[in-house]
Amino acid sequence: MNKYSGIAAGCLALLAACADEVPAPVADAPPGAEAEMPMEAAVENPFFSESPHYLGYPPFDLIENAHFQPAFERGMAEHIAEVEAIAGQEADPDFENTIVALELSGQLLNRVSAVFFALSSAHTNDDILALQQQLAPELAAHSDAILLNRDLFARISALHENRDSLGLDAESLRLLERAYIDFVRAGAALDAEQQETLRDLNARIAVLETRFSQNVLNEVNDSAVVVDSGEELTGLDEALITAAAATAEERGLPGQYVLPLLNTSGQPALASLQNRALRQRVLETSLARGSRGGEYDNLETVAEVLRLRAERAGLLGYESHAAYILEDETAGSVAAVNERLAELAPPTAANARREAEDLQRMIADSGEDFTLAAWDWAYYTEILRAERFDFDEAELRPYFELDNVLLRGVFYAAERLHGIRFEERSDLPVYQEDVRVFEVFDVTGEPLALFIADFYARPNKRGGAWMNAYVSQSHLLGSRPVVGNHLNVTKPPEGEPTLLTFDEVVTTFHEFGHALHGMFSDVRYPSFSGTRVPRDFVEFPSQVYEMWAVWPEVLENYAVHYETGEAMPAELLDKVLSTQQFNQGFATAEYLGAAIVDQALHQLAPEEVPAADQLLDFEAAALERAGLAMAEIPPRYRVPYFSHIMGGYSAGYYSYIWSEVLDADSAQWFRENNGLARENGTHFRRTLLSRGGAEDAMTLFRNFRGRDADINALLERRGLN
Ligand SMILES: [Zn+2]
Repeated sequence: MNKYSGIAAGCLALLAACADEVPAPVADAPPGAEAEMPMEAAVENPFFSESPHYLGYPPFDLIENAHFQPAFERGMAEHIAEVEAIAGQEADPDFENTIVALELSGQLLNRVSAVFFALSSAHTNDDILALQQQLAPELAAHSDAILLNRDLFARISALHENRDSLGLDAESLRLLERAYIDFVRAGAALDAEQQETLRDLNARIAVLETRFSQNVLNEVNDSAVVVDSGEELTGLDEALITAAAATAEERGLPGQYVLPLLNTSGQPALASLQNRALRQRVLETSLARGSRGGEYDNLETVAEVLRLRAERAGLLGYESHAAYILEDETAGSVAAVNERLAELAPPTAANARREAEDLQRMIADSGEDFTLAAWDWAYYTEILRAERFDFDEAELRPYFELDNVLLRGVFYAAERLHGIRFEERSDLPVYQEDVRVFEVFDVTGEPLALFIADFYARPNKRGGAWMNAYVSQSHLLGSRPVVGNHLNVTKPPEGEPTLLTFDEVVTTFHEFGHALHGMFSDVRYPSFSGTRVPRDFVEFPSQVYEMWAVWPEVLENYAVHYETGEAMPAELLDKVLSTQQFNQGFATAEYLGAAIVDQALHQLAPEEVPAADQLLDFEAAALERAGLAMAEIPPRYRVPYFSHIMGGYSAGYYSYIWSEVLDADSAQWFRENNGLARENGTHFRRTLLSRGGAEDAMTLFRNFRGRDADINALLERRGLN
C-alpha cells in the first residue's frame, strides 16, 4: 500500500460479490520540474515530459513499447538521485524538505509505471511481458534502496519524534506518521546485521513463494482426472465431454476422457456428473493436491515459508506474521479479526446444516439411500435450484444492453446521487479502438475527472474486472483524476448489441463504485489519493454501489428491452433476486473455513509452526475449533494449494467478508434514509469517498454511518440470521 512498493499488487477475486480486482494504484502524472536531459531524448520519449493531453491523460498516441525500458531506467535513476539529495542535504530535517519532498519525488517513474502496469493488465504484448519479468526484481531492489536508506530514515525518525510540535495539519501529520510506519515496517529501524538477516529472509521467502505457485500450477495439470468410458460422464454438458475427449487425445490417451481441475476444492463437473463414484474420485483428487508426495508436494514449502514469516515478524518486533499484517489494515489487530470470524462461524454453520438437510431430503426423494458427502453437495444443489427457481438466464439479457446499463443505469445513479454529469469525448487517443472516454462534470458544472471505459474481453487482457487510476488526484501536485474501469464482456459480432448477464451488470456498477472513490478524491497528498486505502476497506465503496443495480428507480430507467423498449417484467427480476441467498450457507462456510485456517497458520510464533507432516492435522483442528468442521464442506482452498496465502493475501483472506460487513451496513443506511437521494450521495462523498486514505478508514466509516459497523445487515443479506 505504500508509495514505494513499485509494482501494482492486485486483489484477488473470491467471493461472488467481489468478482474483480483493484490493482494498487500507482502515483500521479503531475506537473513539476523536469530533470536535465538531452533535448533529443526528451522529444522522442513521451514519458520524459508531461503528457500534452487534458488532465495529464496518457499520450497513447505517442507511446511505443520501446519507450518503456528507457523511461523506467531514467525514472529509477532520477528517483534515487532525488531521494539521496533529500537524505544527504545540509539543512536540518523539516516537513517540507523531507516528507513533502519525498511525495514530490519519482514523478517520471510514476508516469511510466501508471501506463505500463495498466497496459500489462488491459492490453499486453510480448515486449511488455518480457519487460515485466525483468522489472520485478529491479523494482524490488529500487524500493529497498529507498526504504533501507539510513540517512533518510534518520530524518523521518527525527521529525516523527517531534511530530506534535511541528504545527502540522491533520493530513500532513498523518503523512508523516505513514512514512515513519512504512519505513519501520520495511526494516529501516533495524541495525545493519538485522537488516542483512531480513534481506536473507526476504530472498528465501520469495524463492519459496515462487516454488509454491509453480507447484500449484503443475499439480493442477498433473491431477487432471482420467476417465475410461464416456458412460461415466453422463450428465456432463456435451461440449465438456467433447473437450474432455480432445484433452485425452492431446495427452496421448485416445479413446479416454480427461477432466481438468480448477484451483479450488470444489470442481465444476461435480454439479452435473451423475456417477457418484466418479464424483468422489474427482473431489478426492482435488483435495489431495499438493499433499500426496511426489515432486509437486507443497507441504515442506508451506511449512518453511510459515516459519520464516514468523521469524521475520519477530525480527520486526511482532508476535506473529498476522500481527504484522493486520496492524496495517482497518481490522487493526489479530483479536479484531478473530472476533469477526468467530461471530460469523456459528450462524454460517447453522445455515449450512439446514442446507445439508434439504439436500439429504433430495437424496431420499430420488430413491437413494446414502448419507450426503462432500462430492454430492453441488450435484443435489443444482437439482434443488432448478426445482425452486425456474428461469433461464437468457431471458434477462435483452434487458441488459451495455449502453443502457452504462448510460441509463450506472451514470444515471451517479447523476441522481451526486449531481455529476457525463459527456463522451472522441478527441482523446485510446490504446485500443473499443475503449471510450467520458469527461465527468461536477455538480457545480466544473470539470471533475476523465473516465475510461474498457469493457470488452480480448486475448491480451487479463481475466476479471478492475479499476485503475491513470492519474490520481492531489492538491499538492495539482492533478485531477483520470480513472478507468476494465471488464471482460464478450464482444458481439459486428452489428449485434452487447447484451450483459446479470452478474456483468452488477460488476459494471461495482467497478464504477471504485471509479467514484478515485474521482471524488479531495486530498492534498498523492499517497492518500482515492483508492489508496487498506486492503480490507477498498472493496467497501464498490460493493455499496452494487445496490443501485437493483434499485427500482434505476432499474426502471435502464432495464428496457433493447428492441422493443419494454420494461423488464417484475416477476423475472424477482426470480433473479430470490436466488441470491440460495446456497449461501455453503458458500460462506467454505470461504470462512479457508479464512480461519489462513489466520490460524499466521498467528503462530516460529516454534509453534507445525512440521510439514502435521499441517493438514493443524488445518482440521483449526476448523474444529471454529465449529466449521463439516465433512460435507471442505474449505475453499486446502493449505497446499491456497495460493492467496503464498501471494499478496497472507493473513488477508478475511478481507472480503470484512468489507462486506461495512457494505451491507451502509446499504442498509441508504435504504433507511430515502435511498437514491442527493443528500445521501453528498453525505457519502463528503464523509468518506472524498477522503481517500487521508484519515483512518474506520473513522471515515463512523463519520458516514454515525456508529460502528453492525454485522446484522450482512447476516440478513446472506440469509445467515
Ligand atoms: Zn472491487
